[in-house]
Amino acid sequence: MFVQELVLRQRTEILNALCSSGSAEHLEQVLDILLSQGELTWEDYQNVQVPGRALHCNARKLLDLVYTKGEDTCGLFFAALKRVLPETKGVGTLSSGCSSILEEKEEQQNTCTETLLTQRPSLVEKLQVCIDGALEDLVTSGHFTSADCDEVRLAIHTPCQQARRLLDHVRSRGESAAKVVLLFIQHQQEPARPLTKDKWTPPKEVSKYQKKLSSSVSAQSCFLSTYGGTSHMSLDDIYTDGQLELAHNCVDVHGSLGLEDIVGALGTVNKEADTVLVSGEAGGGKSTLLQRLHLLWARGAALKDFLLLFPFSCRRLNSEHRELSLQELLFQHCCWPDRQQEEIFQFILDHPHLILFTFDGLDELKQSFTDEHRLCCPTQRAPVHILLFNLIQGFLMKGVRKVVTSRPEAAGPVFKKHLCKEILLKGFSPSGIDCFVRKHHSDATVAAKVLESLQTNTALLGLCHSPVLCWIVSQCHKELLGCGEGSIHTITDVYLMILQHFFQHQSSLKNTKGLCWLQENLQTVLHLGKLAFDGIRATCYIFSGTDLETCGVTEKDICMGFLMQSKDISTHAQRYEFLHVTMQCFFAALHIVLSDTTDHSTIPKLFETQNMKQAGQSSRCFIACLLSIDQQQRASGEEAKATEIPNLHITATFVSGLLSPRHRNLWLHCCPSAVMEKRIRQVVKCLSKGMQKHFKSIPQPVEGDKKSMHAMPGFVWLIKCIYEMQEGRIAKDAMSKLEVDHLKLTYCNIGPVECTALAYVLQHLRNPVGLQLDNNSVGDVGVEQLLPCMHICNSLYLRNNNITDEGIRKLLAKAIECENFKKIALFNNNLTDACTQHFSHLLKNKQNFVSLRLGNNNLTEEGAKQLAEGLKCNHSLQYLGLWGNKIGDAGAEALATALENSNTLVWLSLVGNGVGSAGACAIANIIKNCTSLEELWLTENCITRSGVERLIQEMQHNTHVKSVWLRNNDLSSEEVEEMRQRESRLTF
Ligand code: ADP
Repeated sequence: MFVQELVLRQRTEILNALCSSGSAEHLEQVLDILLSQGELTWEDYQNVQVPGRALHCNARKLLDLVYTKGEDTCGLFFAALKRVLPETKGVGTLSSGCSSILEEKEEQQNTCTETLLTQRPSLVEKLQVCIDGALEDLVTSGHFTSADCDEVRLAIHTPCQQARRLLDHVRSRGESAAKVVLLFIQHQQEPARPLTKDKWTPPKEVSKYQKKLSSSVSAQSCFLSTYGGTSHMSLDDIYTDGQLELAHNCVDVHGSLGLEDIVGALGTVNKEADTVLVSGEAGGGKSTLLQRLHLLWARGAALKDFLLLFPFSCRRLNSEHRELSLQELLFQHCCWPDRQQEEIFQFILDHPHLILFTFDGLDELKQSFTDEHRLCCPTQRAPVHILLFNLIQGFLMKGVRKVVTSRPEAAGPVFKKHLCKEILLKGFSPSGIDCFVRKHHSDATVAAKVLESLQTNTALLGLCHSPVLCWIVSQCHKELLGCGEGSIHTITDVYLMILQHFFQHQSSLKNTKGLCWLQENLQTVLHLGKLAFDGIRATCYIFSGTDLETCGVTEKDICMGFLMQSKDISTHAQRYEFLHVTMQCFFAALHIVLSDTTDHSTIPKLFETQNMKQAGQSSRCFIACLLSIDQQQRASGEEAKATEIPNLHITATFVSGLLSPRHRNLWLHCCPSAVMEKRIRQVVKCLSKGMQKHFKSIPQPVEGDKKSMHAMPGFVWLIKCIYEMQEGRIAKDAMSKLEVDHLKLTYCNIGPVECTALAYVLQHLRNPVGLQLDNNSVGDVGVEQLLPCMHICNSLYLRNNNITDEGIRKLLAKAIECENFKKIALFNNNLTDACTQHFSHLLKNKQNFVSLRLGNNNLTEEGAKQLAEGLKCNHSLQYLGLWGNKIGDAGAEALATALENSNTLVWLSLVGNGVGSAGACAIANIIKNCTSLEELWLTENCITRSGVERLIQEMQHNTHVKSVWLRNNDLSSEEVEEMRQRESRLTF
């Protein structure tokens, strides 16, 4: 017998089974299943389940409906009935095969809204016990009002019905509301497991431990530590999103990443690995980013898949000299379980996918990463760095997600082998700076003034992309606003400003003797300077009371606010650290410049760190030279690290800045001027020598080629040191000996700050160069910083640099005046049609301009038309590249009309622009009339036979054209073959 007929025949029995209890629950459960299987539409459901109508009527309505829907629906109906009422005899005896269909369908799900539907039966079951929590989340996330909640909670509804009403409401609120519910349930019941699995909650002791851990993590992360020395600023109030990007190009990812993407699968390059690296410069916001992640996790607002999060600071791990087991490391350094330590540790071992470790500042760990010591046993004791390295490699606790932060220099290839992905933290975007300053100043007028003064000093604005400098600038707003336009240019200026700020605001002593602020506080500077300097050379960032005493640091010195108490929970002794590592480098530089104990070889050794081939070797040499015999003995056996180099570089940059002639007056009464002069001469000599070494390493060009220099690491640093000195003579001297035609600085981490320094130094070049800055983070602010050296650039390559129309507007306004400037490449930036009017203006007014490449931006037909306006009046352009825009036929036609009479155009690319045959026919006119064109790229368009026929026709009379590329157009293989025979210069 067919099941459809069975529905009719057994009608009475079915109605009885569904309604005899008097409760609507069975009927509603069947409806849930049919809805989830897609057998009932939402409308069907509402027609059956009419509130207030008698239960029997609703049930009858359902039977009528399934009958009319046919055989399949009836089969599924019986399967649903059997699932809801497995005990009922005699009903649907022929339908047993259908239950398997039910299960198969339940597996399918897509969007969250669909999941709500396909998993409705199990969601109802799960939600009924936690309705209030779900409603709370929906209200917090802004999807529900309190009236919605009241409607769901109506007293006449059973908990299951309340759950259904909740789901019905959520359905109408869209995808994001559905997501809130699913996340809530996942977090409530089954962390890190798919919803379809059985109910799961962690053991009670683990839950207790989780609570203790999260409240400790929350307490540690809710305030920002740089404010420790001044005032407490809550992270919520000040946190501003930084720019996160994948280090490896990933086709699916465009723009900045979100915080959750750090631990997510997005951009994974090595699926076997569990470690994510977040890399960024000192002060770029790495620790703060982790702090934010910790806080959000502790509140249950992010990283919900992880039940336990263990945060580690490598800086603090340096002071752990004991050998520890993994268990001791977790419990002693993060959070101690009050009971059942063994069980909890076993739980951690058994559930790696629920655990997240974070290691902040790998670059600050005393030992360099190595994969030589293998450790697989979680109970075996080992030095902490060995535990850490084995965790990173996955020999210990495979499957546990680890997030490590580090400066880029410290993450060598051996370490990178073990990464699942690398994410770059690139500081604040221009809008981030704006947002941070506004958050920092509750008084909107002050914020506006600070922002205004930043706009007038773009060098300073460039510095503010680094969050730590943005903080200092905001912190010292009074000094900033008071010191007049443009007097702060360099990083040293910014740190001197904060030095003065702290002294003037925190010193209880009034300046009674007419001394300058530095003289007044010289002893403090010297004490802290020594502490910082000793720390840098011993890779020490946390100081004990004894360390402070040794360097003469007094209570009064501590009160100035440059030191803060370390948050090390593994020890009860009081320990201190500088507000930020860059502050420690600054004090170390002050020590080198001001102390009468500075050895005469200190400065040369400091600057020599960049010359050695092996970074580790150079650092060892510097450190050995600076350490006393006793210290050397203590340090022996420990490998010197390449990771110390960045701090030595920062220190050297500050030394250059402090010895700038601009600051001479400040030192006048603090250090004998003869000593000062000698130190200045030393630095100048070091910089000059360093540059010479770079220049000497440039290989001679192959005959016919241009002489090209690819910057070695350290070149940009030397340039920055020269900039800090702010002495044109030194820059001029350095550049006078550089003889290259092309300077390549790709993938060199060049942001606005580096652009300022580059422009300052490169403007003194004697001959014009091609400046290649592809794949950096120049941005609009950086572009503006480059303007002073535009006159010396004959070509500028800025591919992949986050530049927008605004940056182009400023760049071209300057470029138009620069006689030498002839080529620009802007592939893969954020340009739109709005920038084309500026290019058009340039083309009209610059009759020696040769090459314009604007590939992979967002130009459309309008942009092409604007460009065409300029091209009509231009008589010099040879190369025009518009690959990967969207100019279409109309854009191609406009360009063709403008270019058809050109006698300079050699190369034209309209690859991937949605150009069809109409566009191709127009372009054929260029072939017809233009006498110079050699290469035409039309790959990846939608040109059909008629378009190609026109191209062939015009090529017959043209001998200049060497090739026309037509791969991936709308042509059949026969057409391709035939046309290739006719015109060998076509490439398909
Ligand atoms: P890193 O760890 O990269 O050296 P930090 O995270 O210590 O950098 O940042 C230095 C300082 O810059 C912080 O103490 C804080 O004042 C500021 N800062 C960094 N990132 C942010 C952020 N995302 N929001 C607000 N302030 C930040």
